[in-house]
Amino acid sequence: MSTQQFATNALHAGHDVTINGGTRAVPLYQTTSYVFKNSDHAANLFSLAEPGFIYTRINNPTNDILEQRLATLEGGIGAVVTASGTAAINTTLLTLLRSGDHIVASSSLYGGTYNLLNVTLPRFGITTTFVDPSDPENFQKAAKENTRVFFIESLGNPKLDVLDIKAISTYAKEFKVPLIVDNTVATPSLLNPIQHGADIVIHSLTKYINGNGTSLGGVIIDAGKFDWANGKFPEFTEPSAGYHGLVYHDALKEAAFIAKVRIEGLRDHGAVLSPFNAFQIIQGLETLEIRIKKHSENALALAKWLQEQDQVKWVNYPGLENSEYYELAQQYLPKGQSGVVTFGVEGGFDSAKVIADETTIFSLLANIGDTKSLIIHPASTTHQQLSDEQQEATGVTKDLIRLSVGLEDLEDLKSDLKQAFSKIGKKVLK
Ligand SMILES: *Cc1c(COP(=O)(O)O)cnc(C)c1O
Repeated sequence: MSTQQFATNALHAGHDVTINGGTRAVPLYQTTSYVFKNSDHAANLFSLAEPGFIYTRINNPTNDILEQRLATLEGGIGAVVTASGTAAINTTLLTLLRSGDHIVASSSLYGGTYNLLNVTLPRFGITTTFVDPSDPENFQKAAKENTRVFFIESLGNPKLDVLDIKAISTYAKEFKVPLIVDNTVATPSLLNPIQHGADIVIHSLTKYINGNGTSLGGVIIDAGKFDWANGKFPEFTEPSAGYHGLVYHDALKEAAFIAKVRIEGLRDHGAVLSPFNAFQIIQGLETLEIRIKKHSENALALAKWLQEQDQVKWVNYPGLENSEYYELAQQYLPKGQSGVVTFGVEGGFDSAKVIADETTIFSLLANIGDTKSLIIHPASTTHQQLSDEQQEATGVTKDLIRLSVGLEDLEDLKSDLKQAFSKIGKKVLK
């Protein structure tokens, strides 16, 4: 456990300047492979008798520093970075689950994750029950004999519901399954799910952690607290045919999960992070704490302003006192509630489309967490494949506009929205 504070760790954790020729910046190791000293050395690396680098699909010194840094910031024992947030989720689930297993998940998930669980994984015999997460007991009610994980987002994208992680983790512990928390929207600067009972934390690094919209990435962080020998996870207690009979739980103890993610998950599924992207993400991570503070301030101020506009029917931001998630936000996100705001407009679907089309500072695109402000109308774009019922469950109403509030001047952001609002009547009538 690090004794240093977040801002210090975000700049230094994992990077030893006495190696790597004293480079102050984290060096970029753009290489696929590493020269072995001899065949015995190679044999030792492959059998895990000695630590070291083998091939960049498995590990890389630049990625390694990012992994150590993110594990430190979340309070985990280890991490594996992946090609995207989606790769992090998929690699985690494919490392843990087999055909016939079952997931209990929050219904208010990122659209891509919802599809993975709802459509793609069932093709491989892994099914999911989606539950309304506002009542943590729903996780217990939906758990079955073959349930192997609970999956939630700490701050749902785009529903912005704040989940009671502690309460849900109590049910996960009672049922002896790991709680996986996607902490992308909250970021480790505002919330550390492991402190509240999470076993595995996932991020899309694409969003706030990189923060400038240049690189995709993901991470899987292991709290190192779950008992994989509890009888429900034979792949950790029986010899692994995929790794010369290694018994993960015996050989790697509390690091069994994160080791299996690397040496089987990355090896077999191949969703490795490019070292070049790791290098860029490290630049972003250095300033995460001050950026997310400003994103949160701008978002709260804009949410309050939106509430006063005639064209706006409702505003959802967990930092607003009239939000149904306000109390949970004060408990879990007291330092700020991140940069995503949603609102609905008079005139529903059509008006929402006009606003998304007419803003000029807010860019119309499918991303969040950029330094630049972003806007999208999910019902006509990211969530168009979902049925009306599924849209409702994921929190996407027809009139919903999602803003990712950037770091621009607040008055400029208000002016941009104002001029877009003024186009509503005109455009709809055409
Ligand atoms: C964007 C996002 C993902 C997926 O991440 P990618 O890097 O785009 O694959 C997963 N979860 C949440 C909450 C997200 O916002």
